[in-house]
Amino acid sequence: MATLDSKPVIDTSKMSPAQREALELTESAREAAQAERGFAGGLFVGRFDLTRIHPFPGQSAEDRSHGDEFLRRLEAFLKEHVNPDEIDRTGEIPPEVIEGLARLGAFGIKISPEFGGLGLSQTNYCRAAIMLGSFCGNLTALISAHQSIGVPQPLILFGTEEQKRRFLPRVARNEVSAFALTEMKVGSDPAKMETRAEPTPDGEAFILNGEKLWCTNGLKAGVIVVMAKTPPKIVDGKPKNQITAFVVEMNTPGIEITHRCRFMGLKALYNGVVRFTNVRVPRENILLAEGKGLRVALTTLNTGRLTLPAACVGLSKRCLAVARKWACERVQWGAPIGKHAAIAEKLARMAGEIFAMESMVLFAASIVDRDKTADVRLEAALCKLWATERAWEIVNDTMQIRGGRGYETAESLAARGEEAVPVERFMRDCRINMIFEGSSEIMRLFIAREALDPHLKIGAPVLNSQLQVSERVKSVIGALGFYAKWYPRQWLLPFDGEGIKEFHPVLAKHARFAANASHRLARRLFHSMTSYGPKLEREQVLLGRFVDIGTEIFAIATSCARAQAMLRTDETTKKDLLALADYFCSASRHRIDRMFYSIKHNVDLRGYKLAQRVVSGELSWLEEGIV
Ligand SMILES: Cc1cc2nc3c(=O)[nH]c(=O)nc-3n(C[C@H](O)[C@H](O)[C@H](O)COP(=O)(O)OP(=O)(O)OC[C@H]3O[C@@H](n4cnc5c(N)ncnc54)[C@H](O)[C@@H]3O)c2cc1C
Repeated sequence: MATLDSKPVIDTSKMSPAQREALELTESAREAAQAERGFAGGLFVGRFDLTRIHPFPGQSAEDRSHGDEFLRRLEAFLKEHVNPDEIDRTGEIPPEVIEGLARLGAFGIKISPEFGGLGLSQTNYCRAAIMLGSFCGNLTALISAHQSIGVPQPLILFGTEEQKRRFLPRVARNEVSAFALTEMKVGSDPAKMETRAEPTPDGEAFILNGEKLWCTNGLKAGVIVVMAKTPPKIVDGKPKNQITAFVVEMNTPGIEITHRCRFMGLKALYNGVVRFTNVRVPRENILLAEGKGLRVALTTLNTGRLTLPAACVGLSKRCLAVARKWACERVQWGAPIGKHAAIAEKLARMAGEIFAMESMVLFAASIVDRDKTADVRLEAALCKLWATERAWEIVNDTMQIRGGRGYETAESLAARGEEAVPVERFMRDCRINMIFEGSSEIMRLFIAREALDPHLKIGAPVLNSQLQVSERVKSVIGALGFYAKWYPRQWLLPFDGEGIKEFHPVLAKHARFAANASHRLARRLFHSMTSYGPKLEREQVLLGRFVDIGTEIFAIATSCARAQAMLRTDETTKKDLLALADYFCSASRHRIDRMFYSIKHNVDLRGYKLAQRVVSGELSWLEEGIV
């Protein structure tokens, strides 16, 4: 049974063996949530704590100026030495570009100067990702795979002093690193892992055998993190799967790159299939401890996941610049296209969503900067899910606004004398963001799991048939006591939280809506838990709606708090800011209302049944007439 804090929370008794194995493995690797969940965690249980986002935790002037200095150098380097369209066309990043980035310190942005890095904050790292994301997807992926999921991040989090001294100076200076988890049968489900590491008879090392798929930077890396199965531990008389994370030197005998993978976009990704044949890895290269590999991976991604949404902010800003220019320049049917309502609506949506996206990312980064050990998993996941999906739509809208020119390659545009605007490249490069580092579907499940955690701890043992009756009775009493107080509060409390009176009336109105929507969300989640019981876990579409509502509430709240902070410091933009925040929040409120409505009014069940008929081939006649 899946456990948390050594207490069972999810009843796995009625699951198939494969489902049970997958869930138990992920649950055992899941770090217990900090007792005091952050702002985002509170949203799903009706605790809208405005004091956590207001005053909006902006960057200090000192931290900003540290970042500014690096960003100025990075910007100059990108403009003078990098041609993203050429990188896209050739599928290669020139060696001098990689060397130049290394000289700037771009490989060790967050690594402490003690180990040769720049020692910049998470916010400054996100600002660098915004800049890179606006310019070149290939360089963003190179830097992000190296620094957010490659060797630096898990080493900073879990490395021993000795490991940090050995590896951090190398990866901070000029050595590219990578992260290898995925295999042919392991995408979102690590329980199926086949790469194995067996201890040598003297126990001093492990012998690694297996094959990793889609290892970004694998072709260039000097050192990588590899996840492998190690011998199972016997728990309660049964073997329990163990996954261990190893730092592996790529020049060790037995490692080969058997294939360079090529993709729809990110043409210059140094991504490949890495084969390990009897590769000896010293025991001292284990990260954290034997059997803790999945925890290393999941925790690394908790913060690592902030890089992609930051890059999406950059890309979306660039799209806005492209769309704005074209909306003014292009005249059709007697007016610039930006004056036609169908195009104007896209521009307004883009602007509002970019403001919200940036607010969410800056807020999440500020949590990490205040406390490196803070539990930011929910905030980071909300940012990843929302920003990658919004950015995709923004690129899609930009292509629509650019019309035929959006679909034409930059090279072709330039060849016939037009400005080489690479919207087509942006679209190819950004689609993957909704798949890697946690696909949108997996992010929704992950967020739902985290959001339901407080309820699962209290309510799930009541329904867990794997527990003894006495334990379940004790849980019933505890749950009744808790919900007797909690539930009425979700109906009775009108929101007038501390700090709301300091908000501009336009923003206060939306912040109040967000607070009340959070109570409504908590109630609806609770009702669903009581009506579905443990089966709620299978209601992915319903859970997805709850997650999407929570994400929109998070977006409204952080946007209002940031706009309020900006109003105070910058009077000149007051009118613009209010218009921007007001538009975004109003549009988001409509989406939230629609999603609440569809919790009860939907065709989910009919859709699921129809899909099973599709899958079983009953409707294969629909595929007739194709080649
Ligand atoms: C360009 C690129 C770079 C990559 N870089 C790396 C890297 O550096 N290191 C690394 O280890 N991996 C890397 N990956 C792998 C990437 O993280 C995986 O593609 C991703 O985890 C999804 O796995 P999958 O493609 O096997 O999809 P699958 O897990 O097979 O999923 C297929 C579809 O089913 C959905 N799905 C799966 N399980 C569920 C479920 N339980 N409920 C609902 N829906 C579900 C998924 O969301 C997806 O839509 C990379 C992949 C690509 C394409």
